[in-house]
Amino acid sequence: EEPSQTLVDMIDDAVGRFRRRTALEFFGAETSYGELGEQIARAAEGLRRLGVEAGDRVAIVLPNCPQHVVAFYAVLRLGAIVVEHNPLYTPPELRHQFEDHGAKVAIVWNSVADTVAEFPGDIRPAHIVAIDLTRAFPLGKRLALRLPIPRARRSRAALTTTPTARGLVAWERLTSRRALSKRHPRPAIDDTAVLQYTSGTTGRPKGAVLSHRNLRANAMQGRAWVPGLAEGEEVFFGVLPLFHAYGMTLCLTFAMSIGARLVLFPTFDSKLVLDAARHSPPTFLPAVPPIYDRLVRDAVKQPRALRSIRFAISGAMSLPIATVDLWENATGGLLVEGYGMTESSPITLGNPMGPTRRPGTVGVPFPSTEIRVVDPDDPEVDLPQGEAGELLVRGPQVFQGYWRRPAETAETLLPGGWLRTGDIVRVSGDGFVTIVDRRKELIITGGFNVSPSEVEVALLAHPDVRGAAVVGLPGRSGGEVVAAGVELREGAVFDETALRDFCRASLTPYKVPKRIEPFDELPRSLIGKVLRREVRDALLDRVG
Ligand code: ATP
Ligand code: MG
Repeated sequence: EEPSQTLVDMIDDAVGRFRRRTALEFFGAETSYGELGEQIARAAEGLRRLGVEAGDRVAIVLPNCPQHVVAFYAVLRLGAIVVEHNPLYTPPELRHQFEDHGAKVAIVWNSVADTVAEFPGDIRPAHIVAIDLTRAFPLGKRLALRLPIPRARRSRAALTTTPTARGLVAWERLTSRRALSKRHPRPAIDDTAVLQYTSGTTGRPKGAVLSHRNLRANAMQGRAWVPGLAEGEEVFFGVLPLFHAYGMTLCLTFAMSIGARLVLFPTFDSKLVLDAARHSPPTFLPAVPPIYDRLVRDAVKQPRALRSIRFAISGAMSLPIATVDLWENATGGLLVEGYGMTESSPITLGNPMGPTRRPGTVGVPFPSTEIRVVDPDDPEVDLPQGEAGELLVRGPQVFQGYWRRPAETAETLLPGGWLRTGDIVRVSGDGFVTIVDRRKELIITGGFNVSPSEVEVALLAHPDVRGAAVVGLPGRSGGEVVAAGVELREGAVFDETALRDFCRASLTPYKVPKRIEPFDELPRSLIGKVLRREVRDALLDRVG
């Protein structure tokens, strides 16, 4: 089925069909689809008055909250482009992104308003709309203290002081006018909807250009993936950040497209989730493995709290089989793994939602999605079935290219519309895909390729090891040396020799890390991916 609606048509459609039903829930405060439609139209009018036109970029720097959703669709309604940001990025990280996209207007939360206002003249947006979360949120200051703010900035003062910068527009003022005229021009399906930055796991984040068609197609593919969802009846728990491709599609767009109630969480906190589950029992929970592990552990005293969840979808990193068992025993529902990337809007492959799912694999291609496995050194050469190679993907969800980066776009988007994923995979005879590793993170030692994931799995099997990151350090004559950083469980004592001996039992000698170093905490991205690149830098510092 071909998408015919833009994201704007889609939300209008949902507002019309589900008017009285709850669209958003946030700490008990509910917004109906009808109210959401009204707020979107008002915010769009406010943005129009600030000069926002089709094709302009509008930056959103907000945690998950109802205003985030309103802002998202208001920007799209004008034919402008949403640019999402991690609201916890440091000033230099934010500045790099603003320099890249050149947004005309930014919609930001209090704690970064001054930062954005102080960007140099050519980077600073013409207008900054500030949302005072302590005023706008139902729980006010009490909630503000639970927001995901780095410890150093988590003082009451830092959260509640009004930004000093001049020329800020308060969110309440932006949305105080009458609604946007229905006749205002609307975007077309092939217009750009969102500029979504990649996670920055392997380098600086790149802006992926996603069209309305891309995102609408992906929501439809998601729909086909999860059969048995009832329109207007489902309750989605939005613990994933909306500023990340995964949350934007599988929480937001997907929920709105089927008239679901989307319960938003500004940060993942088991207590918040379990409390909300008592009020609105969730039926659908897209998340990442560490969240499933935590929830099961923290719900032991309320074993029924999670039993309403029929579907749980894991992505972004590999899902340990132990987590699947833990979750399915505790909830009685399914936990299946999918795979994707920002450049594919973001989902591409998924396990069947039923008994034929295969834990340990990321499943099969989505409807209208084709895949190939090619030689990583020459993507024109297809490999024989069963051999490990680089995954190429083609489908309506594949992005339009990287924002203002023609060289990287040409490397990634091959002729014929094939997306080079950078991931090494193996496909079974009956079509199930297993992720081996990222091409760029394979370690070459003594002429052999070592997959860091395989070595991490070996380390993680040790009862003392809670986290592991395996990387290649420069070795003799241009080769690399396998090295590891490990995070130990509470009370465990670090013993490098013992860990190496343990690895030897399951790995051939050239794969066994030559060096293992303890970390109090491994560096992770906000969504929870271990950042091997940073582990490598830290190891280089220590090893000298
Ligand atoms: P950057 O491209 O900036 O280096 P990134 O690739 O981590 O960062 P994303 O687009 O968020 O940014 O992540 C996509 C990548 O996540 C995929 O290319 C793949 O390496 C990894 N990934 C996604 N799903 C899975 C999964 N189920 N198992 C293992 N890896 C996965
Ligand atoms: Mg990537």
